[in-house]
Amino acid sequence: MSDCVFCKIIDGELPASKVYEDDTVLAFLDIHPIHPGHTLVIPKNKNVRNIFDVPLTDWQAMTAVAHRLAGVIENAMKADGVNILMNNRSHAGQVVDHPHIHVIPRFKGDGRIQNLWHSSAYKDGEMADVHKKILSELQ
Ligand code: 5GP
Repeated sequence: MSDCVFCKIIDGELPASKVYEDDTVLAFLDIHPIHPGHTLVIPKNKNVRNIFDVPLTDWQAMTAVAHRLAGVIENAMKADGVNILMNNRSHAGQVVDHPHIHVIPRFKGDGRIQNLWHSSAYKDGEMADVHKKILSELQ
């Protein structure tokens, strides 16, 4: 965990443009934004990596901050919308192994939705199978 760049930001060992901070959560500008204003919301808990191990109390605190920042960032950047997303594990695009919610301002005609969201139809019967698998995992 000691190589975690976000832990260094929490400890003040690396600089960051902080936009929100309390005892549990920190939010700061992403250094390489999809659009200016792109913000990361992280827990100060340094012993966790992603959604799978973040305690519910930290997650609730993070989402409350992301909820508030969505409107703040949309207004501040005069954006036309906001994406809230989180990558979990490397195959889902997670590069920094510390939980973080992205709050990304979006602009009419910015053309990025195609890069973010490639969807496709289910094959015959596939949706019912998937539905069953998820419901059975929830038991
Ligand atoms: P991930 O791909 O893990 O979901 O996103 C990691 C994000 O962290 C990337 O968007 C990247 O630009 C951002 N990032 C990586 N290192 C730093 C850093 O040192 N400072 C800041 N502010 N953002 C960083």
